[in-house]
Amino acid sequence: MTDPRPLILVVEDEAPIRRLLVSTLAAHGYRTADAATLQAARMLATTDPPDVLLLDLGLPDGDGVDLVRELRQWATFPILVLSARGQERDKVHALDAGADDYVQKPFGVPELLARIRASLRHAARREPAPAQPQIWGRDDACGFTVDLARRVVTQHRRGAADAEVKLTPTEFRLLAELVRQAGKVRLHAELLRAVWGPAYEHDVAYLRVYVGQLRQKLEPEPSRPRWFLTEPGVGYRLTEPDGD
Ligand code: CA
Repeated sequence: MTDPRPLILVVEDEAPIRRLLVSTLAAHGYRTADAATLQAARMLATTDPPDVLLLDLGLPDGDGVDLVRELRQWATFPILVLSARGQERDKVHALDAGADDYVQKPFGVPELLARIRASLRHAARREPAPAQPQIWGRDDACGFTVDLARRVVTQHRRGAADAEVKLTPTEFRLLAELVRQAGKVRLHAELLRAVWGPAYEHDVAYLRVYVGQLRQKLEPEPSRPRWFLTEPGVGYRLTEPDGD
């Protein structure tokens, strides 16, 4: 039987703080895993994705923000950044990279626990990513498959070998966001927040550009899209997949 307690991955290079976090979380009913470097954090987050990632930004082998950006390409678990950096732009930088919340050190344990609970509540409301590859245009001359778990997008053309479609990280994040709720209309602001971060929710032009790029790469006739549909003045909708 799987352990129902939420798993919190604690990434912090200062051993006393890491130990304090791990013991506090364990005392409050959470399972924990911990890492002191970016590399160890990346491995743990990938092999056993946590329910919440608590991430210190200043790590010996790099900047935590890079890991946020990397994980956000596929991971939906909440990322709570922990940092002594108090400056406004560091917070904005981390949030824009895809962190969900920011806790400044030194922090009070009750506040930290409250923010973890809030992150878990938000995560529970998110649609999980489909685990199986999803196919669009299954019986057509042209179509594509999205495998979010493996981060691979493949194009199919009748009479030709399947070919992997190269997407930029931003294109992939937008595609993943659309795939997660395929068939539903996604509002401009909702997509902008999810892909670029809360500071960008009014930048509809970004979205137009990137949806255009996805159409160029995946639609047989990009100017007459059949999968990546525009809902004028509202947002976009990816049609439901044809099965897996
Ligand atoms: Ca540190």
